[in-house]
Amino acid sequence: MSKPVLIVGGGPAGLAAAHALTQAGERVVLLEKTSGLGGAPIISGYAKLVPSGEWARDAIGGMVRRVREEQLATVHLGTTVKAFAGTPGNFTAELSNGAAVEAGAAILCTGFTHFDSLNKPEWGFGTFPDVVTTAQVEQMISSGKGVYCPSNGRKPQRVAILLCVGSRDRQIGRPWCSKICCTVSANIAMEIREQLPECHVYIYYMDIRTFGLYETKYYWRSQEEFKIKYIKARIAEVTSDGEKLIVKGEDTLVKRPISIPFDLVVHAIGMDPNVDNKLIAETFGVALEPHGYLERGNSYGNTAETSRAGVFVAGAATGPESIDDSIAQGYAAAMRALALARPVRVSA
Ligand SMILES: Cc1cc2nc3c(=O)[nH]c(=O)nc-3n(C[C@H](O)[C@H](O)[C@H](O)COP(=O)(O)OP(=O)(O)OC[C@H]3O[C@@H](n4cnc5c(N)ncnc54)[C@H](O)[C@@H]3O)c2cc1C
Ligand code: SF4
Repeated sequence: MSKPVLIVGGGPAGLAAAHALTQAGERVVLLEKTSGLGGAPIISGYAKLVPSGEWARDAIGGMVRRVREEQLATVHLGTTVKAFAGTPGNFTAELSNGAAVEAGAAILCTGFTHFDSLNKPEWGFGTFPDVVTTAQVEQMISSGKGVYCPSNGRKPQRVAILLCVGSRDRQIGRPWCSKICCTVSANIAMEIREQLPECHVYIYYMDIRTFGLYETKYYWRSQEEFKIKYIKARIAEVTSDGEKLIVKGEDTLVKRPISIPFDLVVHAIGMDPNVDNKLIAETFGVALEPHGYLERGNSYGNTAETSRAGVFVAGAATGPESIDDSIAQGYAAAMRALALARPVRVSA
């Protein structure tokens, strides 16, 4: 009998890998360090996803249910890997819950960590309660409460969304683009206008990266249909005059200082490497790339490889990724792991 595949991380990438392998008749052991499956979209309570418009709880919740109902999948929640040894086809993992797992291959789907806006103190988060993050706005929407100002619960009349918070910022050691936050922000902006048609929504940007087909559906539609205003600016600080939040900076198109009042300021936070990555790299003996994400061994012919044979990687563990790309990578990694987990077949 073949050995199961060990999947670490129960977000979209890990759930996809688990589904692919069990559909192929393979056993999987899926580990998740938190108390529930679903990864960032479920744990952080995302609302309607880009680009499908489906609620995260339905789309990713459905992937969770599918794996939970699968007899070939053993799930350990609140569990991490303490030690990992062996060779392809023949690994042993020691788990934090005391169990030991023999596995033919492993797939690391350990994802990312949301940027902590406290690391950008001049933009007001942590000082003013009405400075929030995109993840918090997603939670407001998905909880059914709608968008509000946390200081007193009132509905905002003017909202500023600041892009690239914790991304493309070499001063704080985060030069990468988080890829999805321009599109997510345009989506949130349209959602706010739909809920609060009188509310004015501004997006402050360096460049807009609504990549690929998102340009029409999010960038143009948000302006033409939803009247979202885009301001190309460098933000200096977010302060308060006691009544309103004041976003100060320079309009970089007209090269003039700007100082504009708002009720609610939203940080479009980026995707940091998972805070566990150093430990994961040590435990599994895999390399990190220079920014601290798990390094891909090969991008083309041998996709999903890490620097260690038999240990594969998928999703935002490798760098900022969208959900659909993370899912696709989970399926690809499953295919690679399957070849190792099953004993070699000799044709007659
Ligand atoms: C505010 C915001 C909104 C977004 N909205 C969208 C959107 O609408 N559409 C879209 O395509 N993308 C969106 N994204 C991106 C999306 O969150 C990622 O693409 C997706 O979560 C990546 O899936 P993943 O499975 O690779 O990682 P994750 O979702 O991060 O899942 C990783 C899982 O691994 C677990 N884990 C971590 N470390 C360990 C460990 N050591 N041991 C065991 N388990 C571990 C975690 O607890 C987690 O459950 C958004 C991102 C942000 C920041
Ligand atoms: S996707 Fe947009 S908001 Fe996110 S880091 Fe890239 S340019 Fe900035």
